[in-house]
Amino acid sequence: MIVRCALASGLLASLTLAPGWTMGPPAAATKSPASTTAMSLPAMPAPAASFGAAAVAGRPAPAPQQEPAAVPRAIRRDVPLTNAIRGAMAAGTRDFSGRPGPAYWQLQADYTIAARLDPASQTITGDETIVLHNNSPDELSEIVLRLDHNIFRATVPRGFSVPAETTEGMVVTRLWVDGQAVDLGAPAARGPRRLGVTGLDQTVASISLATPIAPRSTARLEIEWRTKLPGGPDGRGHRMTQRWDDTLFQPTQWYPRIAKYDDLRGWDTSVYLGPAEFYNNFGRFDVRINVPAGWIVSGTGVLQNPEEVLTAAARERLSRVLDADQITTIVGPDEVGPGRATAPGERLVWHFVADMVNDFAWATAEKFVWQATRATIPGKGPIPIHMVFLPERANLFANAGPISRHALEFYSDLWVPYPFPQLTLQDGPSAGMEYPMVINSNQGAADHEVAHQWWPMMVGTNETWYGWMDEGFDQYMNILSAAHWRDTEPDLDGLGQSYGRISGDESEPPMMWAANYGGPMYGFQTYSKTPLMLSMLGGIVGDQAVQRAIAGYAEAWSFKHPSPWDFVFFMNDALGQDLGWFWYYWLWTTESVDGSIDEAVTSGSRTMVTVRQDGQMPSPVVLEVRFARSGPAIDPLPNARMVDATTAVVTWPVDVWFDGSRTFTAELDFGGRTIERITFDPSRRFPDRDPADNVWPR
Ligand SMILES: [Zn+2]
Repeated sequence: MIVRCALASGLLASLTLAPGWTMGPPAAATKSPASTTAMSLPAMPAPAASFGAAAVAGRPAPAPQQEPAAVPRAIRRDVPLTNAIRGAMAAGTRDFSGRPGPAYWQLQADYTIAARLDPASQTITGDETIVLHNNSPDELSEIVLRLDHNIFRATVPRGFSVPAETTEGMVVTRLWVDGQAVDLGAPAARGPRRLGVTGLDQTVASISLATPIAPRSTARLEIEWRTKLPGGPDGRGHRMTQRWDDTLFQPTQWYPRIAKYDDLRGWDTSVYLGPAEFYNNFGRFDVRINVPAGWIVSGTGVLQNPEEVLTAAARERLSRVLDADQITTIVGPDEVGPGRATAPGERLVWHFVADMVNDFAWATAEKFVWQATRATIPGKGPIPIHMVFLPERANLFANAGPISRHALEFYSDLWVPYPFPQLTLQDGPSAGMEYPMVINSNQGAADHEVAHQWWPMMVGTNETWYGWMDEGFDQYMNILSAAHWRDTEPDLDGLGQSYGRISGDESEPPMMWAANYGGPMYGFQTYSKTPLMLSMLGGIVGDQAVQRAIAGYAEAWSFKHPSPWDFVFFMNDALGQDLGWFWYYWLWTTESVDGSIDEAVTSGSRTMVTVRQDGQMPSPVVLEVRFARSGPAIDPLPNARMVDATTAVVTWPVDVWFDGSRTFTAELDFGGRTIERITFDPSRRFPDRDPADNVWPR
């Protein structure tokens, strides 16, 4: 998704993202037995016998806390491991290499959906079959359902999201598991296990099973349901308004789906609060959408029956889309109604299939203009880009084709080739939201939303908990893409340093704090901070190395579900160094480096530079040394490189801080050429509250 006021450019802008954010209560859904029994708890260590003994054993009590600068730093050099990730490591599903472990597994959910839209009542009625492949080693005694449309009921918890209309939500009318009907009206099961369901009026529901689903077997759910799409002028937040009157429908989260069950936490019972996004299973979607004839339908997947729903003219125009980069009009603004926009008839059924995706979105309107162009995916060839929009909004799509083409081609080169057979841009009230092969976006957010096809659509991260793993990487990508569009080099200097101005704000949640509960700085935590972190990483290992490593991560986790630990360990492995300290401070804390030069003293040919770090986060010592134009020859130093005839950059690794001292004396001996100016962190990559003290003399 895109948050309009919190783009990469605005650090502080994002502070204003959600002033009225409210936190929902903890998930009301039932807790998974598997998540509480899968791991045996480690024995609790006995308390240290000497704890608190200093004061009572005759020694003086510790002094009150001193100025932080007077206290040695205890630098943490590893990342915290939670019980969930420890358990996964022990089970071999995850690995310290950062690649999927030898025992890695994930569930698959295959959907066959038939949905009918009635524009007059603005309601979708559907029936669906879900085949759940239990690829886990666990017996599943329940199935957790996601009923996201229940956020439109008046009685559920919500974050900073206001639906345009209160509806009766997702109304499940019939439900079967493996052919057995579930009594929807029965009270929650007690005593012996029996088939039942709770939470159908919440965004997370749970089906308890009389017979657990055995490991490596399947279960079959059949669900009949209906949901009214919320409309009106007053929705706030993406996905909260899904139609314009009865003329355009943009359904999202529109069908009952199965929650994630993973090796880290068992069933994911995080409620849907609105702002934070999703965590879904991959699987095959076979979807039939029944709408009035004349209405154009777009969506995830590939249209299976163009000869049944399109005119001969539209099919002929589509057949030429891959031949050139030009924009082809498939259905023009003057082609409206059955027999002109679509095949003739009363109602038509549009059939889409997507082989391996983690969601399905669609849109429909009677007045849609349909245009198409192509992108050429490296190593794969041309694919179509479709655009459907209302004719009076054509100006918002005038550049959407070239922008989307550039994004698909650029990001394919940057990471791994775009894996899907098409991309569609859909007009509507929610403009800045992503789904597999579909972006609800005009040209304004097209670059950002296309980037989401890599995460979470291909690399299936848990956005509800770790929004930075998709929005944050996305923002970093957008900086690179924008520079490439302008035919310039991306400038990541200054980004890392700028975090020093935010660090210390009490409302900032660390990035590892679940984004669902990110509070007023959700936008900064989820969107803006990651490019700053990756700017600093580039300042240590080089931006190209960072990008090569992320490309490897994207490939290793394609159509899988990495955790933050997998990312961290993968990067350490790919970059060939233990960056535990780096990840710890960026992801688990809100600390900064706060570097400075205390003094520089020259004696003979030697200059001793005292570098100081007042923050808790360490960094390498990088000094730019500018020499006088003339004088003795400049001798080489093993840790220095000349950037021009009178400028050297000298680097000491971060290890110089690991003994806890807050100052480091850098010895420069270049043979006696006069040093005119020394700058700590010349590329401005390390978080710093006050960069003015980074130069000497001053
Ligand atoms: Zn986004």
